[in-house]
Amino acid sequence: MTLTSTPTGGPALTQERRIVTAIPGPRSEALMARKNRAVASAVGTTMPVFAESAGGGVVVDVDGNSFIDLGSGIAVTGVGNSAPRVVDAVQAQVAAFTHTCFMITPYDSYVEVAEKLNELTPGSHEKRSALFNSGAEAVENAIKVARSYTGKQAVVAFDHAYHGRTNLTMALTAKSMPYKSGFGPFASEIYRAPMSYPFRDGLSGADAAKRAISMIEKQVGATNLAAIIVEPIQGEGGFIVPADGFLPALVDWASTNGVVFIADEVQTGFARTGTMFASEHENIVPDIVVTAKGIAGGLPLSAITGRAEILDATHTGGLGGTYGGNPIACAAALAAIETYIEDDLAGAARRIEATLVERFALAQAIDPRIGDIRGRGAMIAVEFVDPETNEPDAALTSAVARACHQAGVIVLTCGTYGNVIRFLPPLSIPDALLAEGIDVVLTALENA
Ligand SMILES: *Cc1c(COP(=O)(O)O)cnc(C)c1O
Repeated sequence: MTLTSTPTGGPALTQERRIVTAIPGPRSEALMARKNRAVASAVGTTMPVFAESAGGGVVVDVDGNSFIDLGSGIAVTGVGNSAPRVVDAVQAQVAAFTHTCFMITPYDSYVEVAEKLNELTPGSHEKRSALFNSGAEAVENAIKVARSYTGKQAVVAFDHAYHGRTNLTMALTAKSMPYKSGFGPFASEIYRAPMSYPFRDGLSGADAAKRAISMIEKQVGATNLAAIIVEPIQGEGGFIVPADGFLPALVDWASTNGVVFIADEVQTGFARTGTMFASEHENIVPDIVVTAKGIAGGLPLSAITGRAEILDATHTGGLGGTYGGNPIACAAALAAIETYIEDDLAGAARRIEATLVERFALAQAIDPRIGDIRGRGAMIAVEFVDPETNEPDAALTSAVARACHQAGVIVLTCGTYGNVIRFLPPLSIPDALLAEGIDVVLTALENA
């Protein structure tokens, strides 16, 4: 399938912050009342406003308010919302055919997405990929493959990990509230190891790895262990960047001990951290890379990509699903991947990092409530603390986030202790809009 390289998307949205009603405005308020009557209350929303259109670096609501988007729908719209190449590719595909099921009559775009993933993920070895719908579903399949290949059952995940909300991935996810509480029993043979969290444990990467490996050897045993799964930078857990050397030591130990090393790059993948995949920052080559979120410009698609001998070890028919690698999502992924590369969005992510880190470092010099600034590329977080005790300050964090929402900036919080604001702007955000978004956050912090 050939892709158009001449973007012909819809009319560009004015790239501005514009608040024209109370937040929420009357239309959003009416829709929220309908939501509360129709949608299960367990499905919460960060913002009280309903979207009508979005693109570049803004989300426009049904009342005409235009918000600066520093969240990308949780790191999904890296190429921007309704990115021109994605719109064209989806429109062409939806008119050609919408579904056949790849397991019934396959189509070339699925194969091409697999080829691209095999080429772009770290390592030059022979690889295979398989496509699914959500990040959690891909994580589950990575575990299935690792167990099938090794003939072993145990899986190690880390403190602060987030891997999804299905039964197996809930077991891998660390945080009880809101992800797990009341939803057990969870899948068995999942063990949790201590993460490297330099701001809070002060350990070098080598020492943190030694601590984790000792726990794994003593409490699980390499002879029982199928896989280690880790986010190269933890997402929901607080944008925790492990100390240098932690990940390479785990990869070495896993390869020496016949353990499959799985990098969950669902949040960090696709240029987000300033390289195509976050594993590249430490030159690690995972046995399996899990991708989703940024892969297809907002369409639901996920993947596992890994060593041919590992992925081909599972019996034919053992992997799949009705919708996995849907043709519209595959067309969108090819267009999104082309956009990441052609528009050098990894470079854009590095420029976003420079701006965010510089502005917050200046603020930190005069505001000790900013305990830590960390992350890579357009995946930067600020951890708020009580300056006296260094204890997490979740109340301050949610007050700042709420004030930003009221002032027309979409920001997300995260962290085991709820005291982290994370910045995940679309890589297409104009510089001036990013700068203005940061102004709003800093003003909210000053006033909090
Ligand atoms: C979001 C996320 C998942 C789960 O993806 P879904 O598409 O929501 O199922 C898994 N791992 C990481 C690191 C994530 O950020």
